[in-house]
Amino acid sequence: MSEQVLLEARDLKRHYEVSLGAFKPKGTVKALDGVSFSVARGKTLAVVGESGCGKSTLAKLLTLIEQPTDGELLLDGQPVQGATKADIAKLRQKIQIIFQNPYGSLNPRQKVGAILEEPLVINTTLSKSERREKALAIMRKVGLKEEHYNRYPHMFSGGQRQRIAIARGLMMNPSLVVADEPVSALDVSVQAQVLNLMMDLQEELGLSYIFISHDLSVVEHIADEVMVMYLGRIVEKGSSETLFADPRHPYTRALLSSTPRLDPSKRIEKVKLIGELPSPLNPPSGCPFHGRCQFANDRCTTEVPPLQTLEGRLIACHGVEEGRL
Ligand code: ADP
Repeated sequence: MSEQVLLEARDLKRHYEVSLGAFKPKGTVKALDGVSFSVARGKTLAVVGESGCGKSTLAKLLTLIEQPTDGELLLDGQPVQGATKADIAKLRQKIQIIFQNPYGSLNPRQKVGAILEEPLVINTTLSKSERREKALAIMRKVGLKEEHYNRYPHMFSGGQRQRIAIARGLMMNPSLVVADEPVSALDVSVQAQVLNLMMDLQEELGLSYIFISHDLSVVEHIADEVMVMYLGRIVEKGSSETLFADPRHPYTRALLSSTPRLDPSKRIEKVKLIGELPSPLNPPSGCPFHGRCQFANDRCTTEVPPLQTLEGRLIACHGVEEGRL
């Protein structure tokens, strides 16, 4: 049986007009510049890349906080663009977001119970006791205890706060959770607990995840598919097994070789990133990565590599296409 697609993005773009100073023409930041992908029900797509590659912009489009400049977003096969306000409100309940900093996203003056019940107060007609019952049930699912219901967020550790944020995200029974760097602020030992919790919840509730991270190593176990982005575009995308066992784009290899790997058989030849991320206001000609790529040749400086299927994954790299990488 083929996998059921929950969310599909078609050539999604988000460009920002920015002022470059008085008397100067406006510039355009192509924060997201034509990305296409889909996420199946119950599966996880990881979106990985350095700061500035467009991950948060993508999260804002997926959670319907912002509109794309161009392209289409479909949920359950229904186009999101052109939907009525009432439909958008319903769609928003199906897609929830979890942020990196749970403390920043939890109201410090509200107790856990009130934080969890707020979406129910706004969106449902459930009675007070029904709301409490639902909040307690979700708290149990994420490993919080009944006595936590009356406590404030500051009384919890970072990992527990992230459990509260996850619980809140689940209150409206979403189909898709967009997790924006959900474990980046946590200690490594706590990261594993939260990732395991997310995987258990996925299995139990059939959730789809879009898991955003600047750190490839974090997504290895949770991701079914990995999409590596650079300056608003996809440079490599494939199954987690394929990308971790045999990363081919020099950018993916650089990201992977910069993260420590305990298993020596999984260590890959080091690929260095030269220089800084270029300004998206003035992206390089040809392959956007060529200025930082130790394997770039003349063609790379002039011709944009298309995203194509090579070696069992999608990849945009002349070097791989030419068989020299
Ligand atoms: P990431 O989450 O990967 O760090 P972002 O999506 O935040 O990347 O940003 C991608 C690019 O778009 C960056 O160069 C950023 O400066 C730019 N950008 C993001 N939001 C805006 C905005 N509202 N106006 C102008 N530029 C923006």
